[in-house]
Amino acid sequence: MDKCRKYPQQKEGFVILIVQHQRWMKEAIAEAHKAEALGEVPIGAVIVKNHEIVGRGYNLRETTHDATAHAEIIAIREASERLGSWRLLDCTLYVTLEPCPMCAGAIVQSRVPTVVYGTTDLKAGCAGTLMNLLQEPRFNHRTEIVDGIMQEECAALLTDFFRALRIRLKQSKLQNKED
Ligand SMILES: [Zn+2]
Repeated sequence: MDKCRKYPQQKEGFVILIVQHQRWMKEAIAEAHKAEALGEVPIGAVIVKNHEIVGRGYNLRETTHDATAHAEIIAIREASERLGSWRLLDCTLYVTLEPCPMCAGAIVQSRVPTVVYGTTDLKAGCAGTLMNLLQEPRFNHRTEIVDGIMQEECAALLTDFFRALRIRLKQSKLQNKED
């Protein structure tokens, strides 16, 4: 059973909720794999409204040479266009990695009521790890946070990616030495 800070009691409703969160987190993981296929750091997001995906996104920072091309930003743009509104009311954003300060800011600006994330980001997480921009009492909007959904899978995406990257870098260094 996933760790879930918001719903500590493992009652029937809790289990149903967790199963729903896992269903959509699998979709976010599928988006992360699309990033990985392009050599991007594998991070994916989906936005769900009324049991339907209204926005998808995956990290495209390298491909687009755009520091703002994070999974959440791309998903928010798609959902806003599709819903014809900058306010993403009644939406839940699922993302494999805890949002960074930029994405947490965009989540607050777009009034997303609930964020579900997979694994914490010790270097940039702004949904409770380094700071909590999603629940800052001085802002005019606060977001419910559910963390730790499919945590192991979401963390493995990143550790596997960086492990493979280190091996490739090592091999290319050895290759250069041989040349
Ligand atoms: Zn971000």
